[in-house]
Amino acid sequence: MRPRRAAVFSLHTSPLEQPGTGDAGGMNVYIAQTAKRLAEFGTEVEIFTRATSSDIPPIAELAPGVLVRNVFAGPFEGLDKNDLPSQLCAFAAGALRVEARHEPGHYDIVHSHYWLSGQVGWLARERWGVPLVHTAHTLAKVKNANLAVGDSPEPRIRVLGEEQVVAEADMLVANTEFEAADLINRYAADPEAVATIPPGVDLDRFTPGDRAVARADLDLPPDAVVLAFVGRIQPLKAPDVLLRATAKLLARHPDIRDRLVVLVVGGPSGSGLERPRALQELAAQLGIADVVRFVPPRSGAALTNVYRAADIVAVPSYNESFGLVALEAQACGTPVVAAAVGGLPVAVEDGVSGLLVDGHGTAQWADALASMVLDPRFRARLAENAAAHAARFSWERTTEALLDAYARAKMAFHAQLHVQEVTA
Ligand code: UDP
Repeated sequence: MRPRRAAVFSLHTSPLEQPGTGDAGGMNVYIAQTAKRLAEFGTEVEIFTRATSSDIPPIAELAPGVLVRNVFAGPFEGLDKNDLPSQLCAFAAGALRVEARHEPGHYDIVHSHYWLSGQVGWLARERWGVPLVHTAHTLAKVKNANLAVGDSPEPRIRVLGEEQVVAEADMLVANTEFEAADLINRYAADPEAVATIPPGVDLDRFTPGDRAVARADLDLPPDAVVLAFVGRIQPLKAPDVLLRATAKLLARHPDIRDRLVVLVVGGPSGSGLERPRALQELAAQLGIADVVRFVPPRSGAALTNVYRAADIVAVPSYNESFGLVALEAQACGTPVVAAAVGGLPVAVEDGVSGLLVDGHGTAQWADALASMVLDPRFRARLAENAAAHAARFSWERTTEALLDAYARAKMAFHAQLHVQEVTA
């Protein structure tokens, strides 16, 4: 039986925020897209997030059957993600108060996203007597093992918090088999409690389309070779790797300089907020400021033209639990060059829909870019396969698999209750 109503916790970022800057990224897209599908399949969703403005009402409708509840927990402004462990109690109190206003059994399941929400989900599970499903999105131990140069490691309290949530959740959702292995090997998760569910892509929105129209929208020359980076600008996402490789490519092939454009779409995030102009400064230092164009974050609909305008989308991240941008670009028929890390080897089919690069060395990245930029036939072959690869993923499939995971979580929860009753 499908749950009637799910409580979804997204403490540190709201699905109503614009992704691509600050704390809003793939997780926001994931939650909004799956919540809409859950509601369409008959499970209402209430998403609890921390209120960050006095302007927003306590309850907003995201889509039919999907509510966003803005919970008061700490000041609206001035707290960053690292401060939020101090607000877990306030947030939990707010969520419990909402539930207490309803008949018992209002929520059948709790689904928490990111470890901060997992902590609150753990309490809700105990209080409401319903199963907890948790999606980590990123894991501190994995992130710390793949840090960008100069990036600060995730704190120990996050590692501890994640370990607790992994131990308490009835079901853990991993984006890929790689993430499932990390949960099992690095966090001692019970393999039976891990469901591998690939994220999706909106195949109605992200479709191949008219490149000339897309280029006109972005004021790009029709004959340019366009490389694009799309996402939150921070060291972990490694947009600097693309800029360094572009500079090397141009040093080797100065003849293409007039035709090459690098688009960087997104806003500062994470430790990137400490030096929001670092990338512009790097472009100037590398002598490629004339080639690089910075574009503020765009809505998903407007991003379509970025993907369609680009010849190649680069995803050079040091760590990526999946990489929705890679799928969106391919769905628009654009091949991707990506670092062979995290979930990107699943998101990109190496040599078929794009290229995977081992490591982040400038020379390796310049080689990969050169092979695609200088060989239009190779690029066209990858482009032809890109949309077909992306079509293997969809939010409908993700949501159906989530419903299966909810059912498994329910069985695990009741089995545990039974053991507790027998041993009491
Ligand atoms: N995104 C967006 N506008 C932008 C840049 C990014 O809407 O200007 C969205 C993009 O469409 C994608 C998400 O942000 O769905 C980024 O997800 P991804 O998994 O690539 O990275 P994450 O943010 O999770 O690290």
